[in-house]
Amino acid sequence: MINLILFGKPGSGKGTQAEFVKQKYDLVHISTGDVFRYNISKNTDLGVLAKSYMDKGDLVPDEVTIKMLEAEVEKFNDAKGFIFDGFPRTTTQAKILDDFLDSKRMSISMTIALEVDEGLLIDRLINRGRDSGRADDQDRSKIQNRFDEYNNKTAPLISFYKNQNKFYEIDGVGEINDISSRIFETIDNNIK
Ligand code: ADP
Repeated sequence: MINLILFGKPGSGKGTQAEFVKQKYDLVHISTGDVFRYNISKNTDLGVLAKSYMDKGDLVPDEVTIKMLEAEVEKFNDAKGFIFDGFPRTTTQAKILDDFLDSKRMSISMTIALEVDEGLLIDRLINRGRDSGRADDQDRSKIQNRFDEYNNKTAPLISFYKNQNKFYEIDGVGEINDISSRIFETIDNNIK
């Protein structure tokens, strides 16, 4: 089984690349952001709650996010593996994910980080906001808040996964296909 985490700042291309990785390795792609947005579009209780955080660029509370993630994994009992996109985003989430996978005799194979600097990301996010209407992509102060959330709460996961010898960083700038090739190469060369 291959279980991957795609890691990176908002706008670094996790969702785009997850689709290619999913196809090549026949994995189930779970994007916590997409699941939240789906719930928002259906106006579920979870959606209403998540929206109040997401629109400001804040992280949704751990307990809500973790419960949702576990329910998503449970839907795919016969999966060959998973790509986690946008999860974990805090140390608590990462620890609980390890325990949860352990209880299912699964584990994270590797974490692949897409490295892109903030200046470029701001341009990408503003463009995405114009095309998609996403509230959290339309305003520089909300985007900055998401970077702050990342730097404060998510960046510590780099050492969490480095300590487990599972952290791989790749250059997330360039042609989409070239970035995919870098990811495939990293997976093929390092998967155990
Ligand atoms: P991006 O990485 O481009 O910001 P996502 O679609 O992954 O976009 O996430 C959008 C928003 O959804 C986040 O800013 C946050 O509010 C919420 N969210 C997604 N994943 C998580 C998570 N693991 N923990 C807490 N909040 C999350």
